[in-house]
Amino acid sequence: MALMSSQTASFNKALGEMAKAVNSDLIVSEKLDRLVKLAPRALAVRGCSLLLLDAQKRHLIHAAAHDLSERYRRKGLIEPEKSLSETMEGNAVMVADAATDSRIQFQELARQENVVSIMSVPLKIRGEIAGSLRVYSRTHREFTSREEAFLTTAANLVGIVLDSNQSKEGGIAPREDGAEVSPRSLPVVTPLRPTTFAHPSEEEFARLLDFYQIEWLYEPRSFPLQWEEGRITEMFTPDFYLPGLDLYIEMTTLKPRLTREKRQKVHRLRELHPEVNVNLLARRDYDRLLAKYGYGPLAGSKTRGVGRVLFSTAQIQRKVRHLAKQISQDYEGSHPVLVGVMRGVFCFMADLMRALTVPADVDFMAISHYEAEKGGAVRITKDLEINPEGRHLLLIEDIVDTGMTLRFIVEHLKSRKPASLAVCTLLDKRVRRLADIPLTYVGFQVPDEFLVGYGLDYQEEYRNLPFVALLEEESDAGQGA
Ligand code: 5GP
Ligand code: MG
Repeated sequence: MALMSSQTASFNKALGEMAKAVNSDLIVSEKLDRLVKLAPRALAVRGCSLLLLDAQKRHLIHAAAHDLSERYRRKGLIEPEKSLSETMEGNAVMVADAATDSRIQFQELARQENVVSIMSVPLKIRGEIAGSLRVYSRTHREFTSREEAFLTTAANLVGIVLDSNQSKEGGIAPREDGAEVSPRSLPVVTPLRPTTFAHPSEEEFARLLDFYQIEWLYEPRSFPLQWEEGRITEMFTPDFYLPGLDLYIEMTTLKPRLTREKRQKVHRLRELHPEVNVNLLARRDYDRLLAKYGYGPLAGSKTRGVGRVLFSTAQIQRKVRHLAKQISQDYEGSHPVLVGVMRGVFCFMADLMRALTVPADVDFMAISHYEAEKGGAVRITKDLEINPEGRHLLLIEDIVDTGMTLRFIVEHLKSRKPASLAVCTLLDKRVRRLADIPLTYVGFQVPDEFLVGYGLDYQEEYRNLPFVALLEEESDAGQGA
């Protein structure tokens, strides 16, 4: 009885403090930190974690944790169906011994962490499962229904915090085109976003992803790479995970001399986990990416000239005729709409359309350009004139690089219910792809270089060249390359 009442007292006290935290002016992540600290204390257990489902509901991600090692928190992107799946069905789950319970996805790490018993309750936001709240005990423990009710209350408070955060953050102003912002662009994992990054380039990259409305997580997972006598001795934590693209990104912008080591790690990760998509973004690649938008060390030089010609006028014209023939065959009798994305595409589109032997409509779209200092999200600045519903759309691109622009446009066009949608690009910079959107018609594969001519510009210059050329490297300038 004495125990009962002391637990009642500690629950009451904790609930009071939790409610206070929820109603405070702390930022979301601080509120969550408070909640995951107060809950285990009242339950007299050691650790606590808050796991949230990503927007695709594919993985559970640690959003907040108390008294768990870094390694344990980053143990992996937990797959809901593998990890205490009953929680995801809306039921509380008790694990008496984590080291032997088959419902635990990472048993070895649980052992190393001295986690013995676990209680997990579902986290719901407006009645929908959004994750789970878990407490961990170092000693064997049977949790009571009273304790379960307490943890459920804590989970409800977490739900309130996340919900109010979403309605605040998610209150993105209606887009200019009046289109609804899809719920996918309101990530529940926003509180996972770091307030500080290890390196400014990471922050810049995050802003670029935000611009293209690509959901990202910062260092959500560590992969074990090496073991000694059953213990993990080496881990690798990629910088970003993009749930929508199911892609990890490791940036090597910190110290170029570490690039080799990172390459080896990425190589090893691919060997050990062939199912994991991981991309290395080297400093140079990254600088090029930024330069495309006019930022970073490779941007702004006015002294650059045109370097080697990659595709001559004759080569381009031959390719255009070849593509037009294919397209004419495939679209026989279906009267497609060619949709061009301004502005680089205008040369290619004009030539392509004149080489088609089927009738086709022509329309253009334009989207806003990334501007580092402004932030914000990509917008359609000029939408289609025609109504694309029920039409056969053929999106024409000059060049596909990371694929982020294309992904945005394809998603937008799909939402307008065309009868079909295919993509034709003259140039495909495959090696730089992040968002892998299928390309139906491709003219040329191109290397990871900045190209100009045939509509493509460098700071509005060189669009008029009738061929495609490399931009002269800075170091080549003056050497008559
Ligand atoms: P993505 O979103 O695929 O990274 O970028 C696609 C857009 O970036 C293209 O439509 C084009 O405007 C621009 N772009 C990508 N690579 C190049 C390039 O090598 N030269 C020029 N001039 N523009 C490029
Ligand atoms: Mg373009």
